[in-house]
Amino acid sequence: MIIYGSRAVHIKSEQSKTAICPSCSTQGSLTLSVFRRHAHIFWIPLFPIGKKGISQCQHCKNVLKTKEMPEPIRREYDILKNKTKGPIWQFAGLGILIVLIAWGSYASAENKKLAGEYIASPMNGDIYEYKIETRSYSTLKVIAVSRDSVFVSPNEYEISKKSRIFKINKPENYSEFSYGISIEKLKEMYDSGEIFDINR
Ligand SMILES: [Zn+2]
Repeated sequence: MIIYGSRAVHIKSEQSKTAICPSCSTQGSLTLSVFRRHAHIFWIPLFPIGKKGISQCQHCKNVLKTKEMPEPIRREYDILKNKTKGPIWQFAGLGILIVLIAWGSYASAENKKLAGEYIASPMNGDIYEYKIETRSYSTLKVIAVSRDSVFVSPNEYEISKKSRIFKINKPENYSEFSYGISIEKLKEMYDSGEIFDINR
């Protein structure tokens, strides 16, 4: 279950010197307060979603929401609202998300760079993850490397989920039998996406 919603945080209050309470007519008795709302998910603030406010009379305790404020009070409230900034922590979730996305794209670019290097200079023990057909994936293990070819032992198992391919990568799953692939052909298989990852 995803728990989400919004919460208002008090960010500023100021006593008005000039405003007149519409309820008891006292001047200078109104306190204007600004709140900023933010969306949250699992109680982590995501981002602000606007401000709201009230005024309260210290004399008669009458409370007005912004839409109930007479024009002069509303104007004074708007000035206070516009010069009041909310706390940066209300952006925490958005910040975390941006960091995660940036990290994810960096990690995937690094992984791609490494895979390109591994395919160009194979080593014994390299594991190639490849696609047999749609929803069918398996691995090949490099068992020998010559000047222009690699010798691979195929995995005897296959799996329908690309992301779970690590589950079949066990030493006992590899066949006794092996065959050669030219490095040129290997590069073709990698460029076409047939081999989609290399683990070393
Ligand atoms: Zn009042």
